Amino acid sequence: MIQNQNIQKEKVALLRCSDYDVDLIEEKLRYGFELLGGDTFLKRLIPRGSKVLLKPNMLSVENRESPVITNYKVFESVIRILKDYSSEISFGDSPGFGDSKRAAEKSGLMEVANKYNVKFDEFKESVHVKFEDSILCKSWNVAKSAYEADVLITLPKLKTHAMAYFTAAIKNQFGCIPGTQKATWHTRMPHANNFCKMLLDLNTLVHTNFAILDGIIAMEGNGPKNGSPKKMDTIIMGESLSAVDSVAARLIGYEDPLDTPILKEVYDNKWGAVLPEEIEILGESLKQMKAKNFKLSRKGGNFYFINPTVTNFLRDMIAPNPVLIKDKCVGCSRCEEVCPENPKVINMIDINGKKKIPTWDMTRCIRCFCCQELCPAGAIEIKYSTLGRILRMDKR
Ligand code: SF4
Ligand code: SF4
Repeated sequence: MIQNQNIQKEKVALLRCSDYDVDLIEEKLRYGFELLGGDTFLKRLIPRGSKVLLKPNMLSVENRESPVITNYKVFESVIRILKDYSSEISFGDSPGFGDSKRAAEKSGLMEVANKYNVKFDEFKESVHVKFEDSILCKSWNVAKSAYEADVLITLPKLKTHAMAYFTAAIKNQFGCIPGTQKATWHTRMPHANNFCKMLLDLNTLVHTNFAILDGIIAMEGNGPKNGSPKKMDTIIMGESLSAVDSVAARLIGYEDPLDTPILKEVYDNKWGAVLPEEIEILGESLKQMKAKNFKLSRKGGNFYFINPTVTNFLRDMIAPNPVLIKDKCVGCSRCEEVCPENPKVINMIDINGKKKIPTWDMTRCIRCFCCQELCPAGAIEIKYSTLGRILRMDKR
């Protein structure tokens, strides 16, 4: 089925890169830009005199080799190429939890940035913007530097995600909402379909010119923070964020990209290229680059099966829930801190007078899964009840 016969095919470069080696990644990226049009393409992407803002994934304060964040060597290779086209490059992000400067330092990104005179922006200053033609959200506070960037290039990491199923280019731009304001959006958009519509509005408002996805080592399983590293040897580049995400989704095992909530919303709202016939893949073959036995966070299919109008009781019976793995819990209370609901759904209780563990009042939980996403110990997993699994015909 072709959504719109007039849509020109979006070009995406799919590259094989087997190692985090700066010279090798640079070589692959240069090849990717060649496939997309070479110097002419780059000069159109970055008009003379433009300032470039890079937006890596800095989910939280992580070590430099962590598969949770964009690898600093990919970051360095990108800068090496772009410095020939812009004399003013900066980078920024607003992590879901923790101090962004510390996150930049620990990840190795800051060291690379200092080496190339790339400035750091903490995304602390926001600008209030009205968006009348939005799909859903008309009033916004977004990071000023991202909103005003001449050229914004996103550098996402390929990972599983409990709510959005996977995170790549479109979801990475959620970091353009400053700090704790992200939690408010979770409360306002408790259902995956509306949350994904919100992400599309954000990506229209804060226009990203290009995406370079780091999938050299991706994350499978209990992502986006506590999954396992998965060697995929992959870099994906393109101007269309939805096309890049569509290729990424198919690589990790969603045969139909519309089996993921974000790409279903892209399709339903005619937001961008998402179907295979709307995308031209250059470089490697998708078939040969597909990951074997990638552990998805959520299976594709009927993700809106819980209609918002069903009773809370029924919803609590069938919806996926955050579940504590007690042995892993270190009692840090971060889950309680990041829960966006007020009053909190999570309360810490003493066990044996030794340590505290969280308990959930699931009648008020909106299933945003921030607690799972940001637990530093991987002590929270998302699980369906038996009834939920049966109704959904899901093996997970
Ligand atoms: S579940 Fe995770 S975030 Fe919550 S207290 Fe335990 S270790 Fe900390
Ligand atoms: S308990 Fe977890 S999933 Fe539920 S609302 Fe709080 S952060 Fe979100």
